[in-house]
Amino acid sequence: MSKADLLSMFPDELGELCVSLGQPKYRGKQIFEALYKGARGFDGFTSLPKAFRERLSEEAFIPNAEIARKLVSKIDGTVKYLYRLYDGETVESVFMRYKHGNTMCISTQVGCRMGCAFCASTKAGLVRSLAPSEMLLQILEAERDLNERVSNIVLMGMGEPLDNYDNVIKFLKLVNYESGLNIGLRHISLSTCGLVDKIDRLADEGLPVTLSISLHAPNDEKRKETMPIANKYSISQLLDACKRFIDKTGRRISFEYALISGVNDLPADAHQLGKLLGGMLCHVNLIPVNPIKERSFQSSEKNAIKAFTDILETYKINVTVRRKLGADINASCGQLRAEENKI
Ligand code: SAH
Repeated sequence: MSKADLLSMFPDELGELCVSLGQPKYRGKQIFEALYKGARGFDGFTSLPKAFRERLSEEAFIPNAEIARKLVSKIDGTVKYLYRLYDGETVESVFMRYKHGNTMCISTQVGCRMGCAFCASTKAGLVRSLAPSEMLLQILEAERDLNERVSNIVLMGMGEPLDNYDNVIKFLKLVNYESGLNIGLRHISLSTCGLVDKIDRLADEGLPVTLSISLHAPNDEKRKETMPIANKYSISQLLDACKRFIDKTGRRISFEYALISGVNDLPADAHQLGKLLGGMLCHVNLIPVNPIKERSFQSSEKNAIKAFTDILETYKINVTVRRKLGADINASCGQLRAEENKI
């Protein structure tokens, strides 16, 4: 049997593990608290008897994430981390300072199997999904390194969060745990390319996170050109799931739309998108596409972005253009790992 990953467990689960090893249940709480105070070795569990620490180390392990590379933007102080995990795999995370608080963009998988044409994370496919602990560590280690607190999280790094459903849900509950990081679920955005069945499951979880949908096209034909998931679910099926999500949770949905010059940024695209989303409880976030290696996609011109925004606003849609942070450090996820692994 494989060893238990202590950082992926709730105090109750840790308590049960302790009981199964002949110790009182309250030890679980002690382990949980020590982990969040930074214990990364069994010696760090100072409130546990020494013999029990040894016994525990036979049954369990404490995962860690080592900072393999760290890039700090000279423009805006954004920090990008490349973390090395226990098996040598690497993931990227980005720490951003906004007026409303520090935001961490984290990865949910090593690589990705969704295959979006403009995305660097998916170039070599999916290697593996991350454990809840490996998502938590991206935040814990950045907080420790910078001596700052994170108040907002976006699941917009490498990977498709809904393709790692159970671990992501557990991570959300762990990160929200009061005696852990205690980050409010309303301060967390989960971004998906649109796995319709999983969006329905998420709506039933009762977790008030913000759902972000990577739409990137105003119709199925164009969406199929860049996003393979469009062959599985039509935009109409996707939007129906979004409406069900809004009905069940009362939460506004955010649509991500990466503007690619000449591909999806024409006035006709904006009108079609406006008609599609007009009247929905939503927000559209326009992202000038970040050109990646081996792809000829170019970011839209400033005036095309402005025209696109103006047209959407005529449909009474709330639009923002994403401010680019960390432009000098390749802050968009997937690029640093690709460089490291020569993908
Ligand atoms: N798999 C999830 C989350 C990860 S990507 C999803 O698809 O939503 C986070 C966001 O960045 C998505 O909207 C994704 O489409 C977008 N993205 C990926 N590559 C990009 C690029 N080169 N330029 C701009 N946005 C990009």
